[in-house]
Amino acid sequence: MISRRDFLGQAGLLVASGALAEAAFTGGGRAYEETLPPESKFLERAKALLKKAPFIDTHNDLPSMFLETRAGDLTSFDMGKVQPTLCADIPRLREGCVGAQYWSVFVESGTQKTHTSLHEALREFDVALRFIRSRTELEQARSADDIERIHQGGRIACLLGVEGGHMIENSPAALRTFHELGARYMTLTHWANVDWADAATDEPEQQGLTEFGKRVVKEMNRLGMFADISHVSADTMKDTLRVTRAPVIFSHSNAFAIAPHPRNVPDDVLGMMPKNGGVVHVNFIGAFVSPKTAEFDERRKAAVRQLHMRFDTDKEVVAGMAEWEKANQAPRGTISDVADHIDHIREVAGIDNIGIGADFYEATGTPMVTGLENVTRYPFLFAELLRRGYSDDDLLKIAGRNHLRAMRQMEGIAAELQKSEQPLITEG
Ligand SMILES: [Zn+2]
Repeated sequence: MISRRDFLGQAGLLVASGALAEAAFTGGGRAYEETLPPESKFLERAKALLKKAPFIDTHNDLPSMFLETRAGDLTSFDMGKVQPTLCADIPRLREGCVGAQYWSVFVESGTQKTHTSLHEALREFDVALRFIRSRTELEQARSADDIERIHQGGRIACLLGVEGGHMIENSPAALRTFHELGARYMTLTHWANVDWADAATDEPEQQGLTEFGKRVVKEMNRLGMFADISHVSADTMKDTLRVTRAPVIFSHSNAFAIAPHPRNVPDDVLGMMPKNGGVVHVNFIGAFVSPKTAEFDERRKAAVRQLHMRFDTDKEVVAGMAEWEKANQAPRGTISDVADHIDHIREVAGIDNIGIGADFYEATGTPMVTGLENVTRYPFLFAELLRRGYSDDDLLKIAGRNHLRAMRQMEGIAAELQKSEQPLITEG
């Protein structure tokens, strides 16, 4: 399997062939840029509030990193010490004031073609669960009550989120098994469409959810698992919001009005969030945060097209793009840009519908915005929000209370539905 990072890089090269017309490019090889720390009065207040909230991040790709770097051999890492080759470890999570973390169960969309999605998903679940059970500082949480209890006990609550509906291989039995293993959200798609839902970064096929897709969402409602509508097309977002009986989440998505990338949430969908009660968790990935990305992507696509005209082999095109990237730095985005997304979501949806899902997925932090390169930096963003006049209560909501509130609603609805509805047994 290619790594997620390689995948994002290659996705850009597929643009000229039309395979992924809106592919993101997250850049590579950029130097780590140091930012000035926020004013200490804001930083200290931010840290105190995060510790109290508790602070919940809904997306981190550490399980994939374990599999990619050491084939899942956890004895290679002392997670009680800083691990420079990984995107998280216990000392840095503590420094970042992380109270609860959703670890991502991520498998490439391409595994649909080889029917290996479910097999790879089980490897991800396995490594994530082995990791959680290997450390006394961590404990698996299965409910909102668990998150608060584990946090009060001084440990980091760990949850699982499945990033891509392809992993159930059209089987509600697999969905229920994922829930048994502890998955509390499933992103309906990843980069490519699935049989029953369109992705934001693929050609529309179903114009949203199919009938089976709607039944999957309803089964998630009955089970007590968030339908995560990050990565899906705007039509899939709207179909999901129409059929769901429980709050949805965006586990890692930003505002389209600030950065026009198909991965981001359009205003009409943001406007539907208060009624649904769901939460949009903002990510820190430069390509989705920076308002300059759209223009840069256009220039990059044009450069790829030109290289395809000039050269016959992919190897020459790849070499040409490496040169082009050296001369053209991708816009990176700043802490202030992330705060602009939060301001906007607050304006269009509301303060009750915002959370954080940073999406750390590699060790150097270069795909992330300047100043938020690793999991120690969450307090920097919250200090910026305080500087902008957000109240303590606002911060507590964004940090975790919105998520806990939505999760309790979702759990209550599931308990009710289980009294009247039978499990979905029809395979898609
Ligand atoms: Zn993602």
